[in-house]
Amino acid sequence: MRAVTANPDGSAPHPKSPIRPVETLPKAHLHLHFTGSMRHETLVELADLHGVRLPDALRDHWPPHLLATDEKGWFRFQRLYDVARSVLRGESDVRRLVRETVEDEAAEGSDWLEIQVDPSGYGGRFGGITAFTDLVLDATREASERTGVGVAVVIAANRTRHPLDARTLARLAAQYAGRGVVGFGLSNDERRGRPEEFARAFTIAARAGLGSMPHGGELCGPDSVRGCLDALGATRVGHGVRSAEDPALMDQIAARGVPLEVCPASNVALGVYPEPSAVPLRKLYEAGIQIALGADDPLLFGVRLAGQYSLARRLGFTDAELAELARMSVRASCAPSDVTARLLAGIDAWLAASG
Ligand SMILES: [Zn+2]
Repeated sequence: MRAVTANPDGSAPHPKSPIRPVETLPKAHLHLHFTGSMRHETLVELADLHGVRLPDALRDHWPPHLLATDEKGWFRFQRLYDVARSVLRGESDVRRLVRETVEDEAAEGSDWLEIQVDPSGYGGRFGGITAFTDLVLDATREASERTGVGVAVVIAANRTRHPLDARTLARLAAQYAGRGVVGFGLSNDERRGRPEEFARAFTIAARAGLGSMPHGGELCGPDSVRGCLDALGATRVGHGVRSAEDPALMDQIAARGVPLEVCPASNVALGVYPEPSAVPLRKLYEAGIQIALGADDPLLFGVRLAGQYSLARRLGFTDAELAELARMSVRASCAPSDVTARLLAGIDAWLAASG
């Protein structure tokens, strides 16, 4: 897919107007799920290799049409995700997924990736959650060395499971603090697990020095984001877009400097907003909120990271504003200071180039 062929109003760009490719804009990617990062062709190949029958929505009619604004729709999304996860049968499959994902990040200008994984979804096939986490971390180190892209891991609990399971995962994450794991998350259907129920798990993670990165404000409204901030001490919020429904909350988020990991294509694919122009990206930006654009699950939504920046451009974000979005993604990351400095310098160079 080409980055840009037209102005936001659909007219052709002026021949001399600079069109800087979004793929060469250095950025950090902070919201990407493990199986959801898989290439579609890899899903099909691994399914054929392992004899997994893929539903049509994951084979010939990909990407699937999803509408997850009710529980039935979310169930369908989860079912497709579970089928996709089931093609990961052996160590080489996991290493391939990580290698290809990080190569795709490199090709899109993402020089720092924080990938989110719930090890309990894989432990059964890979010798337990600790063995699986070891495998993922080893695969990310390998991929990072090959590509030069920095990769860190966020361990996420499933909010539809018991809070005690989340505590187990928080203790696991804590063991890996400073050894590749940088944060603790909370994912899955927001309507079925309020942030407050998971406060103790997040305390365990915070004591180990991990970031608090729960999902909130996607399927549920501002109260869910408040729960993430107040009960879970969120240092970043996954999605958080529906904060835009509450000006006081937006002020609070901006004042606290808590970044939102905004995934516009995912929001539209899941039916949170009817079309890209309805995603309140501009509103959040104008409110002074730190935004890190993310792809969430490109395997299910069909759009990777650079596509989110293209979408912002179509919504009217100028190159200077795209550069600022990229800076915010870098500042919101857990990347070490030398990586941050390199990325910020690269963003300035991108903007200084005539395109
Ligand atoms: Zn997510």
